[in-house]
Amino acid sequence: MEIPRYSIVMPDSADLPTSPAGWRLEHSYARLPQAFHVSLMPTPVREPRMVVLNAPLAESLGLDASLLNDAALFAGNSLPPGAEPLAQAYAGHQYVHFTMLGDGRAILLGEQITPQGDRFDIQLKGPGPTPFSRRGDGRAALGPMLREHIISEAMHALGIPTTRSLAVATTGETVWRQDGGLPGAVLTRVAASHIRVGTFEYAAARGDKEALRALADHTRQRHDPELEGGHTEFFEAVMERQARLIAQWMHVGFIHGVMNTDNMALSGETIDYGPCAFMDAYDPATVFSSIDRHGRYAYGNQPRIAQWNLARLAEATLPLFHEDEKKAVEIANGLIETFEGRFKHHWLAGMRAKLGLCTDEDDDAALIESLLDWMNETKADFTNTFRDLTRGLGGSPEWHARWRERLQRQPQSTDEAVTLMRRSNPAFIPRNHKVEEALAAASHHGDLNPMHRLLTVLASPFDHTQDSPEFSQPADNTEGYQTFCGT
Ligand code: AMP
Ligand code: MG
Repeated sequence: MEIPRYSIVMPDSADLPTSPAGWRLEHSYARLPQAFHVSLMPTPVREPRMVVLNAPLAESLGLDASLLNDAALFAGNSLPPGAEPLAQAYAGHQYVHFTMLGDGRAILLGEQITPQGDRFDIQLKGPGPTPFSRRGDGRAALGPMLREHIISEAMHALGIPTTRSLAVATTGETVWRQDGGLPGAVLTRVAASHIRVGTFEYAAARGDKEALRALADHTRQRHDPELEGGHTEFFEAVMERQARLIAQWMHVGFIHGVMNTDNMALSGETIDYGPCAFMDAYDPATVFSSIDRHGRYAYGNQPRIAQWNLARLAEATLPLFHEDEKKAVEIANGLIETFEGRFKHHWLAGMRAKLGLCTDEDDDAALIESLLDWMNETKADFTNTFRDLTRGLGGSPEWHARWRERLQRQPQSTDEAVTLMRRSNPAFIPRNHKVEEALAAASHHGDLNPMHRLLTVLASPFDHTQDSPEFSQPADNTEGYQTFCGT
């Protein structure tokens, strides 16, 4: 049977009114079939207070930061002009178990149209219960929200696609978690979209092909408007973004921690910062999440998991590849098989840059692997090993000599190689103990100074002129470090 083609035209934002603070909210997602969303309001909180406002991000969205010191707004007690709040429905493979989900503690206010004409979701995280909350309270604690703020800002400064945090406000209410009562907070998340692999799985699980088609068209209009081909071409674009994103994570030692299919965005942005962290000592088996007992989401597994998730996306969108199921499966399998090559391409390009290699030689992968093996054996700090290389130090003596010879075989000068390395190897990442220190000061003592100091350092991760051991050294004992979802 021929599936009817939806034509979702992005609304024309030209005559959209702009509020004094710069709000210009549109609602293209809300035009998707009813099954994808539920309208509802945030639940007001007792005593909203601003904790942090991301002024540069506000300005880039066309908002006037001086008019945004508005705790009521960022806690969900009042709404920006033109908001049409809704919770999004989705599903997901959590670990390997398929579940129907949805925004259990998030509410989308609308899509901000920037002065450049770009479209960004504005979403409150922690605004109270929704029909998808199940047994949860729909709330969030201050620590995990500030954690998301810090890590997503660090990712952005590292040049890695990510959702951003516009603001964090406290609620004056207590949220109850395993470890007792914690201060409640709401984070305002900005994302190219919140469409997840799980959103497609949701449409597929309902057996609603028209909804599936509408979602695919909508997503393509938002993220790949230039594509003219069919679903295959769109799927390749999605895959390519993921391959590049995961390679970028690997290049800085980032571990997402919960790569469930509901935490993978079609936009190719890093999303849902829960038990994530940057690795100190290099070990591909590193896991931080307290509940990841089998290491499914370990550092070294991330490319394989991304491919697994994309296979779930392919399954969910099978009817869009071809009306004949057998042919559709063939096409989908052929595409999924290309993931490894795509990932390796981006990984190798980035690793060459980290070593200052401006040309390609066949043995480069072996040179890189041999350094990683040495790092693994000696438990070398991931970030600082590469930072040391930019200063001409590091690696075993044999490896170092091999690397020097390799550098001499390329026509580029040493200066050029060093410039490339400085751009590719951060001097500063969010060290786990510095993040914890900042969160503890903010959550327990209301002291935001450590967080702001940390954010300042993380805003310039490639500034190799600063020598700040306090922010660049790993903690003395980092073994067994665990992070929690904060749910
Ligand atoms: P996450 O592990 O954060 O990706 O969340 C998985 C699912 O659980 C999502 O549907 C969330 O909306 C939901 N969830 C997480 N925390 C809460 C909470 N405190 N209250 C209600 N739902 C929640
Ligand atoms: Mg999630």
